[in-house]
Amino acid sequence: MSKSFDVVVIGAGTGGYVAAIRASQLGKTVAVVEKQSALGGTCLIWGCIPTKALLEHAHALKVIQQASEWGVTIPSGTPTINMTQVHTRKDKIVDGLTKGIAFLFKKNKVTWIKGTARLAGPGKVEVFEGEKQTLEAKEIILATGSSPRSVPAVTIDHTRIITSDEAIHLKDVPKSLVIMGSGAVGVEFASIYRRFGSEVTIIELVKRLVPVEDEAVSAELEKAFKKQGITVLTGTKVTKATATSSGVTIEAEGPDGKTQKISADMLLVATGRGPVTTGLGAEEAGITMERGYIKVDELYRTSVPGVSAIGDVITLGTGVHPQLAHVSSMEGIITAERIAGKDVQPLNYDHVPGCTYCDPEIGSVGLTEAQAKERGYDVRIGTFPFGVLGRARMAGELEGFVKIVADKKYDEVLGVHMIGPRSTELVAEAVLALRLECTVEELIKTIHAHPTFSEAVGEAAHAAHGAAIHM
Ligand SMILES: Cc1cc2nc3c(=O)[nH]c(=O)nc-3n(C[C@H](O)[C@H](O)[C@H](O)COP(=O)(O)OP(=O)(O)OC[C@H]3O[C@@H](n4cnc5c(N)ncnc54)[C@H](O)[C@@H]3O)c2cc1C
Repeated sequence: MSKSFDVVVIGAGTGGYVAAIRASQLGKTVAVVEKQSALGGTCLIWGCIPTKALLEHAHALKVIQQASEWGVTIPSGTPTINMTQVHTRKDKIVDGLTKGIAFLFKKNKVTWIKGTARLAGPGKVEVFEGEKQTLEAKEIILATGSSPRSVPAVTIDHTRIITSDEAIHLKDVPKSLVIMGSGAVGVEFASIYRRFGSEVTIIELVKRLVPVEDEAVSAELEKAFKKQGITVLTGTKVTKATATSSGVTIEAEGPDGKTQKISADMLLVATGRGPVTTGLGAEEAGITMERGYIKVDELYRTSVPGVSAIGDVITLGTGVHPQLAHVSSMEGIITAERIAGKDVQPLNYDHVPGCTYCDPEIGSVGLTEAQAKERGYDVRIGTFPFGVLGRARMAGELEGFVKIVADKKYDEVLGVHMIGPRSTELVAEAVLALRLECTVEELIKTIHAHPTFSEAVGEAAHAAHGAAIHM
């Protein structure tokens, strides 16, 4: 017997579950097929939530390590981290949030089908593992996400050569950890395990850390990492990694062409994630694919009518599609609203905020200085360091800055890049500024409360006009 729904979503990550709830809010009958035993996908189970939970532990340890600065006396001994307690707390957070989605599904009358699904002809989805059945759907949304991928020179054995999926569960803090790749995942784990006590080396192929960020942000992070005792090897290529029972040996070729051997307890491969489409039947259904990703148009329609795709599994065919939870959710909302007949507009990917929760934090939105110049803008820059602010001094968080990239001709804010305390929160103002096509002048006229970290945004705007007050 087959069951019929207006919309069937495959995958309950931040793309799929949000699309399902929105479609249901708009009056559609909706089912979601999810192969994991919990809802929430990568973000909740292996990604955003557990990593940020570990980073909060790292931050707590940092404050305690600096207790004497705060006038707090700690009984003798060096503060250390108890990984059992760390994982118990992290797992409780993850469990609570995944159950929260199950509650939201009930509240919104979204049917959760536990199993693995594939496309089975026009308007048909077959659940072939788990609660086996065939579903009929007027519209299908593919939201199957991504999984870690390696590079040809490195074979992941999940014990010594690991991915982020294992790195969030390590029972013991490795004595030494080499991290390959300095995107958000790589630098976040570098911050976590360095604070927990590992000797951390980060190897990046490109000449700078966090290569998608503004160059000034990369330089500031490298300075901060080196100060924390993290070894940074940029412009360096891992050519070989061999796991043994006691560790791993890595061969890496530096910018001078010389190869060095590094031994460590573990190698974390953080070189990116690839689309999950194996067994989905997308190609068999006639869906156009590109480099393994599902190709969609600007409103997430695949080449097959009635089948949409969102989130980490897609490409828009216009450069790199950001693999971020909030991007997948927004794409889910747009798709659900389009299916329900609402007037929807394509997303402006220049307005996607990027938050990296390393220490110090990074928040950015819009064009970097280099990108703005590449696009032909006559650029005006304003930079203001956090260290000058009263609020930053009180918090003892003096590193970093806010940098505004603006167009000289119309004074429009093109990008805001920050590294330093609360940057992942402060970036929200910048996202709104770009969305509303704000000028630097409007940011200057916006009152920033005192004493706050947000004053750095106002001051960076003043600086862009050559008139920072406190510098
Ligand atoms: C370590 C780490 C940290 C991260 N931190 C952040 C962060 O701080 N902020 C941020 O914005 N992003 C972060 N991300 C990225 C974010 O997690 C992803 O961009 C987001 O989860 C993508 O959502 P999605 O719905 O497209 O796919 P996913 O979350 O991957 O969900 C896909 C779901 O589909 C299911 N599925 C797949 N195939 C099938 C099938 N055939 N049948 C049934 N079910 C299927 C999977 O089990 C999964 O639950 C992080 C990622 C990692 C790995």
